[in-house]
Amino acid sequence: MREQEIAGIDIVSNGEQFRQHFVHGFLEHIEGVDFAKRIRIGIRDNRYEAECPTVIGPIARLRPVHADEVRFTRAHTDRKLKFTIPGPMTIVDTIADEYYGERPRLAMEFARLINEEARELEALGIDVIQLDEPAFNVYLDDVENWGIDALHRAVEGLRCKTAVHICYGYGIKENIEWKKTLGDEWRQYERTFPLLAKSRIDQVSLECAGSRVPIPLLELLEGKEIMVGVIDVATTEVESADEVAETIRKAMAYVPAERIIPCTNCGMVPLPRTVARAKLRALADGAALVRVKLERG
Ligand code: ZN
Repeated sequence: MREQEIAGIDIVSNGEQFRQHFVHGFLEHIEGVDFAKRIRIGIRDNRYEAECPTVIGPIARLRPVHADEVRFTRAHTDRKLKFTIPGPMTIVDTIADEYYGERPRLAMEFARLINEEARELEALGIDVIQLDEPAFNVYLDDVENWGIDALHRAVEGLRCKTAVHICYGYGIKENIEWKKTLGDEWRQYERTFPLLAKSRIDQVSLECAGSRVPIPLLELLEGKEIMVGVIDVATTEVESADEVAETIRKAMAYVPAERIIPCTNCGMVPLPRTVARAKLRALADGAALVRVKLERG
């Protein structure tokens, strides 16, 4: 967090340093999920395989999952604090199920547990709760049929900002191969953004740096705050502040500046630390360039 502060980041996070995996970290403390029963399954429509725990009975959250880490985190920064929790669809796509037998039903059950957790974290001083839903880019029919409903259940009653992060993943081999199959333009968001625009989620992210997402799709997120990805996490090449500013300005052709929150395309966990640090600095410096210009008119 100190590195983020030094780099000039306004909304910081604990970098998920308290968890092994962005999905399984939440599941470790959930009753009904058996980590001794790990099964190798295909996830994200069989894009890759992962060792996943198994749902063996009714799921319940018997105690807070992240409260202690959030207390620690909140005590160590005065900046706005974001906390990430895996979204319901991404959870059910990253777990083996021997009990519920239906994805929508299991997703709504997890949404209920996420909501219990999120309400407590909000009370501990979290400013933004972000649900990570990379599975939204894979199961487009499910997003429409039950994915958005599950998100709504997860954020029910929250007063803090709520965000959803959908993405095309880290720069790992399986994802690079998958992206090659998506054609010259990545248009998955064309279906999900209109649904999200009508939703109660406050913020939506997308990748604008080094991706093939057509920038005009931003217009489909009418009324939302948009986390504009201006840092490519699939390369170790560090963006310049000018490049970052240029990407922000491209987004500003479609979205007013007050609704733009520049950020990274996705998480930086696979990158060397020195590269990640330099990219954070470029993000803050690039945003500052645009901000100064806006303030001067
Ligand atoms: Zn991501």
